[in-house]
Amino acid sequence: MTIPLVDLKASYERHKAGIDAAMAEVITNTRFIGGKELVEFEEAFATFCGARFAIGVGSGTAALHLALAALEVGPGDVVAVPAHTFIATAEPVVWLGATPRFVDIEPETGCMDPAALKAALAPGDVKAVIPVHIHGQPVDLAAIGAIAEEAGVPIIEDAAQAHGSSVTLADGTVVRAGAYGAISCFSFYPGKNLGAFGDAGALTTNDPELAQKLKKLRDHGRLSKYEHDIVGYAHRLDTLQAAILSVKLTTLDADNDRRREIAAGYRAGLEGVGDLRFVTEAPGRRGVYHHFVIHTADRDALLAHLKAAGIGAGIHFPLPLHLQPAFTFLGGKRGDLPNTEAFESTCVSLPIYPELTDAQRDEVIAAVRSYFDGN
Ligand SMILES: *Cc1c(COP(=O)(O)O)cnc(C)c1O
Repeated sequence: MTIPLVDLKASYERHKAGIDAAMAEVITNTRFIGGKELVEFEEAFATFCGARFAIGVGSGTAALHLALAALEVGPGDVVAVPAHTFIATAEPVVWLGATPRFVDIEPETGCMDPAALKAALAPGDVKAVIPVHIHGQPVDLAAIGAIAEEAGVPIIEDAAQAHGSSVTLADGTVVRAGAYGAISCFSFYPGKNLGAFGDAGALTTNDPELAQKLKKLRDHGRLSKYEHDIVGYAHRLDTLQAAILSVKLTTLDADNDRRREIAAGYRAGLEGVGDLRFVTEAPGRRGVYHHFVIHTADRDALLAHLKAAGIGAGIHFPLPLHLQPAFTFLGGKRGDLPNTEAFESTCVSLPIYPELTDAQRDEVIAAVRSYFDGN
């Protein structure tokens, strides 16, 4: 690929000096579990999100697992989740013996549709809601929050793709992903907006009791060495990953701004081309463009054209969760979630990462335009 979908090498090159030094210090001290690097990262990440507490864990999936466990989701419970997301949003629901209820999306943003959530909550059996800030676009937290609050159901934000995205509430307050829900879940999978050198994740919360409970749950139910208050899990964040993440966190706001700049460039360069539509930013909701998603009826032909031109485009995601073989036991069928199905049958993600140059962006635009010019 001339222009990959994501470029982890370019990211490492930019942070090499800081990361190499941070890793060397952890290794020299052989402090691989816990320690000051973990605490420092958790404090810095909580500050970044505008949340009171951050708890480092082994992955975004582990974060979702612990959030559900902390809210005591269990057998017989129902959890409302979108079907337009990565499967990790719904898997831990099943691990705990509960049942996912799939909710449709807003066609323009790809995020959970408040009206559809309201309908999903109507039977009164939902224990928690997991709205996903998908592609880096924040969900309508004000609307979703009001509906969930009225039903007395806590929100777990899946912010795995949306570190630093924000929403302006009715009173004018700006809240970042991770500062609104009862608990929020982040992934630092290498290709995410903040990426580790392996698996890593975090939870955020403003509730001191939940923070304590999450700390216990991630580490065998304990806060001291051999005293186990509850039965927990092995979901710790490695110290090495925390040290790496602290270095990369220092440029995350600037990196997200650069992603927004690239997205604006794509929109300007592709507006009115063929039948293209874009995932749009809703008013009062500021996205961080984990993906830059376009829609076209003839998606597979465009993808083949881009591949031939050396451009690493992708599909996020090709099959909604309610139609995945893993979830056939839930009885979902085509037609259940029309907005989700329409979204996933037409979406294409173009390369976007902070190090993508203007020249590379223009090359991608030219390649997309040449497909439509030739058709
Ligand atoms: C990446 C991702 C996850 C899972 O995170 P991992 O760190 O890979 O376990 C969960 N939800 C969404 C929306 C994601 O994109």
